[in-house]
Amino acid sequence: MSDERLIRKIVIVGGGTAGWMTAALLASVLSKAGQCRVELVESDDIGTVGVGEATIPPIVAFNRMLGLDEHEFMRETRATFKLGIEFRDWGRLGHSYFHPFGKFPDGPDLLPFHQMWLRARQTGDQTPLDDYSIAWRLARHGRFCRPAADARSLLSRVGYAYHFDAGLYAAHLRKHAEGMGVARTEGRIVEVRQHPESGFILGVRLEDGREVGGDFFVDCSGFRGLLIEETLKAGFEDWQHWLPCDRAYAVPTERKGPLRPYTQSTAHEAGWQWRIPLQHRTGNGHVFSSAYMSEQLALDRLVQNLDAPALAEPRLIRFRAGRRRKAWDKNCVAIGLSSGFLEPLESTSIHFVQDAIFQLLINFPDRSCDPLFAAEYNRCIQESYERARDFVILHYKLNERTDAPMWRHTAEMTVPDAIQERIEHYRASGRVHVQDQVELFSRASWLAVLNGQLLQAERIDPLAQMYDAARFKPLLGGLRGLIDDAARAQMSHEAYIEQYCLAPNVNGPL
Ligand code: FAD
Repeated sequence: MSDERLIRKIVIVGGGTAGWMTAALLASVLSKAGQCRVELVESDDIGTVGVGEATIPPIVAFNRMLGLDEHEFMRETRATFKLGIEFRDWGRLGHSYFHPFGKFPDGPDLLPFHQMWLRARQTGDQTPLDDYSIAWRLARHGRFCRPAADARSLLSRVGYAYHFDAGLYAAHLRKHAEGMGVARTEGRIVEVRQHPESGFILGVRLEDGREVGGDFFVDCSGFRGLLIEETLKAGFEDWQHWLPCDRAYAVPTERKGPLRPYTQSTAHEAGWQWRIPLQHRTGNGHVFSSAYMSEQLALDRLVQNLDAPALAEPRLIRFRAGRRRKAWDKNCVAIGLSSGFLEPLESTSIHFVQDAIFQLLINFPDRSCDPLFAAEYNRCIQESYERARDFVILHYKLNERTDAPMWRHTAEMTVPDAIQERIEHYRASGRVHVQDQVELFSRASWLAVLNGQLLQAERIDPLAQMYDAARFKPLLGGLRGLIDDAARAQMSHEAYIEQYCLAPNVNGPL
């Protein structure tokens, strides 16, 4: 390929979490080649969405790719560890379960572990699935440890992610990206210039008349999609019929009680409330459906359920579940909220950013932006959005809450075939058909939610049925004891943070 066709300058529009994640990773890859500059444009006046504090395990690998020191990153973003999510009142009022990160133990021969557990249940064993998750036992005892390297250890089954302050994470990445040569331009974009024939984006004009041009543009401008939608009209696929929540009130509160190494999600009549512990404060929010609850009532419900004084006025954020039909169009890729959104129930949005940057690097174009590359990129992004969407829908579909109209509606709605098939398989055999290593949410995650949302396996795997259940009972009892002992032997989450990654003035001003 001749050099003239290579992309020499990439412009990133937006400096929220998506913009700075993109800038940091592109810079660290492109700076090695030394042929392509990266410039990021953001507007302090417009600001960022200001939420997005809970993550999922792949973020650990993302930070590692950037070469971030984990403890320094945690100090700077006032982060805590996250071992999973506790769901309260989701299956039915008064019931709770845990979606743990990591894996359950192995089962006998080729049988998954949970088939052994289901077999024991047929003969009266009442122990919950959660008891067999090392991440949950750690979480419940307020402990934390990293996954053990030795695959024979139960602790090798731990997975973890972080809770962090989104603004501080963007600032941390900005420092990193600028250190690798990313140029930052502050200013409000008022016009997007396109090539009159091809429609390719040529540059953006700022309020003060300056112009920023480039060969390739990454739209990280948030929900509005300044380039991808307002300019290129890529279109939006709406998923509100499956995911009715369309608003959230968010508010930080004073830090209270010990730092829990997990997110809490409590279902309300028309949505759910998150609680995310950070070193210096707690993040809270009420995600709700405006079709089933007024904004005032949603705000009241949030405030009633706070466990500590608020540090700011609650803020209303409106959104729509769905995805951009073409996340890549012409010479523009949308990354972050501009490319689509799923409510933060399973903390997927920051992951979509990471996934999109990897896909962009895999399909990196030259200046012609071959539509073939864009088509492949769009196919991959669509697939990962839809898989994550299905996992989130599952929480709504499987519920026994007859107390409120939204829950009755979601329990009765028709869901995409892929979800219905998984539900039917679990019911018919206890099998969970998920491609581990390919899908974002593993078999362990689907199992935790299928079972946690109270779906009963009416029959189990015929191979498991052949085993003598009496043989499993002592095995399961021994396993529970080992898991509990291993969890109790670890440091408390708080002591871990204090020893390795406590922010210096954690009680000081934000
Ligand atoms: P934004 O943060 O909105 O940034 C947009 C950027 O574009 C800003 O810098 C802005 O200044 C710039 N911009 C816009 N217009 C212009 C213009 N005209 N000129 C110049 N600059 C401009 N994700 C998770 O993974 N975990 C969570 O727990 C989570 N919780 C969430 C809770 C809620 C209620 C919501 C709504 C989202 C949540 N998310 C969560 C999603 C997460 O917040 C976003 O994915 C993440 O913050 C990335 O946002 P962004 O950078 O795409 O957009």
